[in-house]
Amino acid sequence: MPSAGAVTHGLVVSYAQAQASIEIMMITISKENYLKAIAEAEAEGNTVISALLAHWLSVTPPAVTAALKRLRRDGLVTMTKGGRIQLTPEGRKVAERTILRHHLIERMLSEIFGMEWVDVHEEAERLEHAVSPAFEEKLVKLLGHKETCPHGNGLAVMSPAQRRKKGQRLLSEAEAGSSYHVCSVYERDRKLLEFLQETGIRPGIHLKVESRNYDGTSILKIENKRMALGSPVAEKVWVAQER
Ligand SMILES: [Zn+2]
Repeated sequence: MPSAGAVTHGLVVSYAQAQASIEIMMITISKENYLKAIAEAEAEGNTVISALLAHWLSVTPPAVTAALKRLRRDGLVTMTKGGRIQLTPEGRKVAERTILRHHLIERMLSEIFGMEWVDVHEEAERLEHAVSPAFEEKLVKLLGHKETCPHGNGLAVMSPAQRRKKGQRLLSEAEAGSSYHVCSVYERDRKLLEFLQETGIRPGIHLKVESRNYDGTSILKIENKRMALGSPVAEKVWVAQER
């Protein structure tokens, strides 16, 4: 029988090991989050600097500085003299893989588990880091190919200019008297998604803009219901005109 001391010793070692592996896991998660945020912010047409990342990821500027130091050391990002952050090819690979896994997890939660579209983004933010290449392959096989996630967003993040080229416009710019269908909504804001859920605005839904008011609100008609929508919400929804 082992002595009490040996048992204690064994426990201490495994506790330290567990802590170390949790630490490595946390660093990996944060690395993937940074790289994904850089790729998405860039694709949305932003110049990526550390202040933008701090805002985007809701972290403090010193935290961003520390993370960027690690990412540069690992050859995943570069920084220009002006402070502009850019992904290296290796960094972009990690970002795109994380974006793909986010997309697959959102679809899995919604299509297989029937989870509400307002809930899947947050859940995917947590699960995307735990997907192995083998599981990813299974998900692709099971779910098949589909361009968009439950929020209407594509696998490749589109810039506002690219969306406009595809004939989309923001709901806040829609013309009174015209009918539209909702293409996609901004998914990184939980409160916005809950609000949209309540109003019935979601990808695929048809709506008519009845009038636009001087104060920025639009009067919409959705499935025979009339409602006023303020511009802070209408600026987060992409629509396309019905022909
Ligand atoms: Zn989504």
